[in-house]
Amino acid sequence: MLDVIIIGSGPAGLSAAIYAMRAGLQTLVIEKHPMSGGQVLNTVDVDNYPGLPGIGGFELGMNFRKHAEDLGAQFVTAEVTGIEGVKDEEKVVVTDKETYRCKTLVLAMGATHRMLGVPGEESLRGMGVSYCATCDGAFFRGKTVAVIGGGDVALEDALFLARGCEKVYLIHRRDAFRGARSLQQKVFDTPNIEVIWNSEVDAIEGEETVQMLRIRNNKTGVKQSLSLQGVFVAVGITPETKLVRDLVACDANGYICADENCKTDIPGIFAAGDLRTKPLRQIVTAVADGANAITSVEAYINTR
Ligand code: NAP
Repeated sequence: MLDVIIIGSGPAGLSAAIYAMRAGLQTLVIEKHPMSGGQVLNTVDVDNYPGLPGIGGFELGMNFRKHAEDLGAQFVTAEVTGIEGVKDEEKVVVTDKETYRCKTLVLAMGATHRMLGVPGEESLRGMGVSYCATCDGAFFRGKTVAVIGGGDVALEDALFLARGCEKVYLIHRRDAFRGARSLQQKVFDTPNIEVIWNSEVDAIEGEETVQMLRIRNNKTGVKQSLSLQGVFVAVGITPETKLVRDLVACDANGYICADENCKTDIPGIFAAGDLRTKPLRQIVTAVADGANAITSVEAYINTR
């Protein structure tokens, strides 16, 4: 029986793997896709990771992984389909390939993009509607695009896209951004980004590919149509917790209720990274969770 199974290989899962290997724990990391890596891989520049100013998200994510691999962490690519015996000493993780047994579990499945839920979003996905500027931005070189949202990701995406696109509309539902002030200043200083405040998307339109964005000012009710080729949706994240919502306590938004010690309400099951309740979801807080989760794992195992 393994000491710990870590589900997810973003910064939280990889940090947990590093700490688990250093603690001499029998460890397995289960990831849905080969080199899943989490959201960090889609982050352009990570400007706030201490000691590594300006490092690219992909490079940082790969460094985390190499560190875990060099310490001997074992990875399997599989989709977890169920977790059984959660309250037992031996917990069973069922995947679409094999079944694994462990003493403890670290849930580190992260979070995924939230959708706008407007007409045209689903049907034009991949045909001009995107959720990842770093993945798809190159297809829109010299074109006009819109970014929807007002958080760090929306600001980063707008800045990234402005490097190659002719024009970037940044559309936010309020009159103040949520994202970091340093990013806001860069956005205001970029001539080909036009911020449209207090506006929401009514529909994305186009035949085969995106051609038009219909927006509405939520203060005045005035409607506007923007002719463009791409729409980048950056309206936040949803925790990847469907698998465990009936097994461990979650809040109303689906985040797993766990403190800084990463303990869930079920002994031996821990939650690390963006999927747990916390005030700040950053790479640095995700890797901190990985370390804290394994410290809690060790304490749990030592009392058995
Ligand atoms: P976020 O901070 O939750 O921001 C989401 C934005 O989308 C908000 O401005 C929100 O508006 C808007 N929004 C939400 N639902 C909407 C809807 N239905 N229609 C229109 N707008 C909507 O999410 P995020 O930018 O994806 O960032 C996620 C987390 O990752 C954050 O904690 C962020 O700080 C972190 N992050 C960290 C780094 C880093 O460590 N370097 C980089 C990127 C992101 P309101 O403002 O009105 O709520």
